[in-house]
Amino acid sequence: MCSHHSRKVRRGNKIYTINVPRLVFSLTLIFALIAGGIFFVVRGAKKLARRAAFEDRFSALYISEFPDEEKEVTRCIVLSAGHGGDDPGACVGDVMEKDINLSITKLVQQMLEEKGYTVLMTRTTDTEADNTTAIAEANANGVDMLVAIHQNIVENAPEASGIETWYEEGKSDSQYLAQVMQDALITATGAVDRGIKSDQSFELTRETAMPSVLIETGFLSNETERNNLQNEEYQRRIAEGIVAGIEAYFSREGLPASTFSFDEK
Ligand SMILES: [Zn+2]
Repeated sequence: MCSHHSRKVRRGNKIYTINVPRLVFSLTLIFALIAGGIFFVVRGAKKLARRAAFEDRFSALYISEFPDEEKEVTRCIVLSAGHGGDDPGACVGDVMEKDINLSITKLVQQMLEEKGYTVLMTRTTDTEADNTTAIAEANANGVDMLVAIHQNIVENAPEASGIETWYEEGKSDSQYLAQVMQDALITATGAVDRGIKSDQSFELTRETAMPSVLIETGFLSNETERNNLQNEEYQRRIAEGIVAGIEAYFSREGLPASTFSFDEK
């Protein structure tokens, strides 16, 4: 076992044999373990700092997961599931708009996250969202887009059905988003195309600094559509349409990079 890699060292009256390759290997391993440990501790601390900075800036917007520092934010999107809590929105029997809105919004969130987008939610449960604060926080932090999801209802016209997308009159980016969103939704669902519409009465589309739309994904007053809207497969098609609309908007040429960041400003 005493090869030319070994050195004999005398300490007092004892003679130690040092295996040089083994020593180098052991030292390398110890160094790697220490470096790895430091890396994980630093990364964990940075993640905590990001979370703290995020919670400092956002009180009305929720995120499901804080990405690692290495992950670059491509685009940040706020999703608003309409109504919630004491406000059920449109109702037919025990079918409530707030529930359908939340189901579809969660599907959109999941699909966007899988594609690498950063998604902030105004609500994730059956509670009333604080839209005014959410808008202020989104505006102050460089969020790229806001999409609100609602259901329609109309009295005395049970035949009325289909999808319409609303934007704020005079906002050309939002109008463009509304059109690509509407087109993508009709392609994904085959629903009646009611076109894009403008209005100035929705706080979420009026007060937001980023492109924003409010989608009415169907009519609860239409029996067929009401049944479809409660069906997860149809909800999934709507969600796929919304994601396709978002991607169509972001593939627009000349769009500046996102200014959203997890780190402290
Ligand atoms: Zn609504």
